[in-house]
Amino acid sequence: MTSLDHNPQPRPVLLLVLDGIRPDVLRAAIRDGEAPTLGALAERGEAVWDATSVFPSITPAATAAIVTGEHPGGSGIYGHAWYNEAEDRVVIYGAMTETVITSGPLQVLHNNVWRMNRDDLYADTLFERLYELGIEGACVNFPIRRGPYRHRVRMRTLEGVANVGELLDTTVDGPKEYYMGDLFYSRDLGLHGRKGSGGLHRQAGMNDTYAAKVGAALLKESAEPFTLVYFFEGDSLAHHRGLSAQRRYLGTLDGYVAEMLEAGGGLDRVLDEYALLAISDHGHTPFLPENRYVRLDNVLGERTAIGARARLGPRVGVLVVPNGRAALVYLGGRANRGRVIEDLLGRRGVDLAAHEDEGWVAVRKPGRELRFRPGAGPKDPAGRSWELTGDSGTLDLQISGDTLRYGDYPDALERLWGSVRSPRAGDVILSASPGYTLGEVNGNFHKQSDHGSLHADDSRVFSIGVGLPPPRRITGVAPTILAHFGAGTAGGAEVTEDLVR
Ligand SMILES: [Zn+2]
Repeated sequence: MTSLDHNPQPRPVLLLVLDGIRPDVLRAAIRDGEAPTLGALAERGEAVWDATSVFPSITPAATAAIVTGEHPGGSGIYGHAWYNEAEDRVVIYGAMTETVITSGPLQVLHNNVWRMNRDDLYADTLFERLYELGIEGACVNFPIRRGPYRHRVRMRTLEGVANVGELLDTTVDGPKEYYMGDLFYSRDLGLHGRKGSGGLHRQAGMNDTYAAKVGAALLKESAEPFTLVYFFEGDSLAHHRGLSAQRRYLGTLDGYVAEMLEAGGGLDRVLDEYALLAISDHGHTPFLPENRYVRLDNVLGERTAIGARARLGPRVGVLVVPNGRAALVYLGGRANRGRVIEDLLGRRGVDLAAHEDEGWVAVRKPGRELRFRPGAGPKDPAGRSWELTGDSGTLDLQISGDTLRYGDYPDALERLWGSVRSPRAGDVILSASPGYTLGEVNGNFHKQSDHGSLHADDSRVFSIGVGLPPPRRITGVAPTILAHFGAGTAGGAEVTEDLVR
């Protein structure tokens, strides 16, 4: 790792986040010669093919983890939706276009663009922490972008609404340069304000073609010492058309990376000038051909609150917020947690349930239970030791002597510990079995593939570093980049203890 002592001027950093790209899909594309640029980066640097996401392994939680170094318990961001007990309502950041439509585009846009960063994100972002070191940042399309500069909304149609509505603010706080299509652009690069087609996301420039063009313009100018460019369409394609579509898209995506490097003077020159990290935020699990949709209503045969307008009330004891292949379950005063868990674990496609219990995290599957907390006991591959009681098979742990290895649930103890112990997580978190999904908050389901669970398929990500050590966890990205810029040790893997219950 470089530090200011050895290198008075750390190289600028380029961070590429490729949403939802499975490591095996990327490797296959590289092997077949269809992702030559990403292949060259992996070869020139170092690649980790079994790095891990957070739990839930879902975009808002994972992208927050990447730029804060915190698990959801520390960042406060759990997924596309969660139930806010204080406001007695479900907060939706939005995942699918249908969610936007059914919960109202302005409300979701407000939550996604404004509220998530401004109100709900507990932890400082990389943009904020680097700014304190005198390092400026640029952000293209990445959803978590809070920073020290104020940016004015640019899109005229929205601007009109913002000026009269109570919902939308006219500014957001971001890094020095912030680009999100036609919604925000700190400088006019000649790429904005075009007539888009294909709905709000495309009109607002939420597409990879745009991200590559802005990224190329920024690299051409060597604009800022830290540049984050986000590509999301590989995730979206997997949801709608399956992993084979993601596989086919990798050629295009690789072309976008090549386009950016070309603008910076070509691969050799960019790697001379920059340190580079390329990483995915989570994996993907394809569905079974049939019966893959798990319904979480009617718990214990009673009325269960589920959906965008769900509320706990005197007659509703259980509120469920599905988040893809995970779900957050909130209980009213009279609900019995044990019985609720038993009911939910009895449904085909629900793999396991986890909850906090008097300083422990308890994980349950039908007929088995494991409880754990940091303490004296076997060490995980990252070197943290855990006190365990119960059935270690619940999490497919292989324990020999004083070491433990993970099987189906990579980095499970650290990820559950960093997620379960916060009021936002609810009273129970569910994780789905491979092949199944628990759906979206509005009751819709993706067609081909989904993610969010603790299982390896959703949880494994690739991590490529050139001039920077590739982190083995997505929570390692922020500490790695801070260390590169001489910030000393950063608290990446630890949950911020005062923020949890
Ligand atoms: Zn997704």
